[in-house]
Amino acid sequence: MIFNTPFSVIDTMGFELPELEYAYDALEPHIDAETMELHHSKHHAGYTAKLNAAIEGTEMDAMGIEELMVEKFDNAAVRNNGGGYWNHSLFWSIMSPNGGGAPSGSLGNAIDDSFGSFESMKEEFSKAAMTRFGSGWAWLCVGNGDLCICSTPNQDNPLMTGSGIPILGIDVWEHAYYKSYGPGRANYIQAWWNVVDWGAVADIYESVL
Ligand code: MN
Repeated sequence: MIFNTPFSVIDTMGFELPELEYAYDALEPHIDAETMELHHSKHHAGYTAKLNAAIEGTEMDAMGIEELMVEKFDNAAVRNNGGGYWNHSLFWSIMSPNGGGAPSGSLGNAIDDSFGSFESMKEEFSKAAMTRFGSGWAWLCVGNGDLCICSTPNQDNPLMTGSGIPILGIDVWEHAYYKSYGPGRANYIQAWWNVVDWGAVADIYESVL
């Protein structure tokens, strides 16, 4: 199944690095400016360039990013760089200098229904992020009619295996936090909740229902 997400783009000229909607230093003190700049302009740009190089001149040029991730799962270059492209596009979009707090409305209700409470969801999500060994991501997804939490290694994501549609994700690669937090991944995860833009997450939730 091919899902539509806010990052569904078919561009035969190649995929473009999305612009951030805030400055590199806007998420301080929770995420430092140097980390943000390197993460966006080097890491995400690198995944974008390598994805484009992998698909250029092939039939994959005409495929959307979700289709590439699902249909070309066995192509390591497309899986790793396509995942890196999509995952970071989601990541930037669900953070904001005006983040934090808790979701209301239908997303807030869905979280209560699936996890009992917002605090229980945070606890389970943080545990998934903490216990992902090595590099990877933790996700809050729309699953089979409810919300679910999981983690994936490297640049994989739940879209690739059809196990859910991510509406929130945290990057737990060391490049996402090491400058400010060193090996203290727990402190990074705890601080990260302060920059989560629940309005943006709610918009994605509504769009994928
Ligand atoms: Mn990253």
